[in-house]
Amino acid sequence: DSEPKKEDLQRITGLMDGFKASKALFTASKLCVFDLLQSRPGLDASQVAHEIKASVKGTECLLEACASLGLLKSKERTSQKPVYENTDLAVRFLRSDAPFSLHGYIQHCNNTVWPLFSHLESAVREGTNQYERAFGKKSKDVFQDTYYNSQDVKLRFMSAMHSIAKVTGKSVATAFDLSGYKTACDLGGCTGAMAYEFTKAHPGLSVIVFDLPAVVEMSEHFHPPHTDNRVSFVAGDFFKDELPKADLYILARILHDWPDEKVHILLSKIADACTPGCAVLIAETMLDGQTPYSALQSLNMLVQTEGKERSESKYTDMLSKHGFGNTRVVHTMNFLDAFIAIKM
Ligand code: SAM
Repeated sequence: DSEPKKEDLQRITGLMDGFKASKALFTASKLCVFDLLQSRPGLDASQVAHEIKASVKGTECLLEACASLGLLKSKERTSQKPVYENTDLAVRFLRSDAPFSLHGYIQHCNNTVWPLFSHLESAVREGTNQYERAFGKKSKDVFQDTYYNSQDVKLRFMSAMHSIAKVTGKSVATAFDLSGYKTACDLGGCTGAMAYEFTKAHPGLSVIVFDLPAVVEMSEHFHPPHTDNRVSFVAGDFFKDELPKADLYILARILHDWPDEKVHILLSKIADACTPGCAVLIAETMLDGQTPYSALQSLNMLVQTEGKERSESKYTDMLSKHGFGNTRVVHTMNFLDAFIAIKM
């Protein structure tokens, strides 16, 4: 056998270490290290430890880990301890008040996704989400049974969705020429973040955000400072209630939450509400084998929901059963791909 190659070993060690890097990021984010160093750049480890009420030893290790991951810059001052400041990456995405902050999503990963992933083996054996093992509670409908039972968990989940929707919204909203559409309904539109991006990109478009009452009642916490009166909110259950009339239905990160049977129930309700020329716009990460992102996201859906990620051809096939065709896909190079299909 030839000696192991350095690149091969590095790849495997990178994979083995991935979870340590994730947890270092989650912990620094939870302890507000990036917010602290934004307002007070140049603190050393013992000053940071004092501010975040943590041990000096632990804080030193955490700050060095963050520096090695490119999240902090450490500057050696001659014969003194190193001092730290945020890198551009941390300034843009990790501060909690940055316009494209991923803080909300990182907290969701730390509090919910991490404990669920620790039961991945059971999820794979059983093919079901792991709420019962991780949190002692059975969860058939993750939204109504779990996230929305507590106000804190609900706000944390909404804030996680909000942060991704803000980062991805523009590329999804501008993926296709939508100038022919006047009214859209964003099904499961959560905080409205995606809807506001659609109205910004399309001056002639109004968007109704349709989501469960528990979400709609909290949505005003997330409205942008200058709200657009072309975005409105309607509370309801998209499996049970009548859908608002629109000529474009947006489904952003909705179908991946549900098994095929439920996707067909929802698509058939949308098809009933559509006349020829109406469209469905799906924003999901498409399984395509090109990058690990979508396949790993599918494991994420496995441990969290009843759903999974699907390929472009699977969505095309599912939509064709409800009379939608002329499908097009834009790979946005962002977290989400955009897919459109027209009612024939
Ligand atoms: N579309 C948003 C986005 O891309 O940021 C949120 C996606 S989140 C994964 C799924 C959304 O579907 C949540 O806002 C949830 O409240 C909503 N939802 C779940 N079940 C629903 C139902 N039965 N009726 C209406 N909305 C529902």
